[in-house]
Amino acid sequence: MHIDILTIFPQLFEAFRTVGVLGKAVERGLVGLEVHDLRDWADNKWRQLDDEPYGGGAGMVLQAPPVLAAVRQLEQGGSAPPRSLVLGPRGRVFDQAMARELAAEDRIVLLCGRYEGFDERIFDHSRLEEISIGDYVLGGGEVAAMVVVEAVGRLVEGVVGDPDSVIDDSFSFGLLDHPCFTRPAEVEGKAVPEVLLSGNHERIRRWRLQQAVELTVTRRPDLIKKSWARYSDEIRELVRSVAPDLADNAAEESRCT
Ligand code: SAM
Repeated sequence: MHIDILTIFPQLFEAFRTVGVLGKAVERGLVGLEVHDLRDWADNKWRQLDDEPYGGGAGMVLQAPPVLAAVRQLEQGGSAPPRSLVLGPRGRVFDQAMARELAAEDRIVLLCGRYEGFDERIFDHSRLEEISIGDYVLGGGEVAAMVVVEAVGRLVEGVVGDPDSVIDDSFSFGLLDHPCFTRPAEVEGKAVPEVLLSGNHERIRRWRLQQAVELTVTRRPDLIKKSWARYSDEIRELVRSVAPDLADNAAEESRCT
């Protein structure tokens, strides 16, 4: 997996690409992460890439020609073209399913915007897909690109030491993750649930699943409906025992889609 990032603020990625699980993955060559200064494609001595919007209005707009030149240059090479993505609030909303989809790619290009965004014509003349990390507006695409790299990077084989920890994560089964506990056994009078000290793996597995179902029913009933079709019989029964109406609705909706 190789990821190229295009940004006018490459320095924002200096610590990001060297610390934690991702830093180790980069060091071990499991994830290639190259950060490019978009200004290297500017065609003027001031390295300026933005200009005023046609039609007037606030803010500056990133010009299409240097951005297109940068994206096209990074798209060259390799046996197949990369997935080219531009971060932007108007895009398809990034989620765990998309993270899995991207983790299967060999190469990804991530283009970060600033100011009012890009001249719209970059979308006519390139293979760029717009992706958003949520319904809010950031000052730039860099933090959004980091979100994508973190979520995708940890799904690349070998990056996370224990693959079970990735499989168990929230959203992997269409459920939120179960609660976790560590030492000490008691915190401010609150003890660890007894089952976790029992050593009985089956009881522990069942308790965690039950907790995950209860949390998802309470906090994210939308996820139950969306994921019903891929739930195991065991999960469906648990949902039914906690929230029978929700289970009926989810089953009905999944029959209709
Ligand atoms: N005028 C744009 C709009 O309202 O759609 C917002 C531009 S924003 C101030 C500048 C840049 O931040 C965007 O080009 C994009 O790269 C990034 N950005 C802002 N919000 C984002 C989000 N929710 N997801 C991904 N990128 C975002």
